[in-house]
Amino acid sequence: MLVDATELDWRTVSTSALADAKACAGASGDLPRLSDVDLDVLALALEEGAVLITDDYRLQNTYKNAGGAVESVANKPSKQVWIWEGRCTGCGATAPLSGNVRRSKNQTVGDCHLCGSPVKVKRRKA
Ligand SMILES: [Zn+2]
Repeated sequence: MLVDATELDWRTVSTSALADAKACAGASGDLPRLSDVDLDVLALALEEGAVLITDDYRLQNTYKNAGGAVESVANKPSKQVWIWEGRCTGCGATAPLSGNVRRSKNQTVGDCHLCGSPVKVKRRKA
């Protein structure tokens, strides 16, 4: 009865929508930090052009970068939109993260092509 009342709409995510979600998350640099469930949610929102209701700032950020609208459940929506990028710890050179950056907690994403120092993931305003 409760399920009837809330009119839950069960959906499965299409492969193409999931690919779109990964592309968007890759573009904003959030992909390495999003879980599979996050990506499913993002894919659904993209497919439906829906307002994404979440308190997850990374999801909000990715969806806003992709041109979507977000709302929060409990917290105030994040006002800032940011981009994750690689920044060299040696010379400070920056470069966009590629979409296939390993999804790990490790902040280092490779070596600088200019000076060879480790490159770390940093956040900047979009
Ligand atoms: Zn460098």
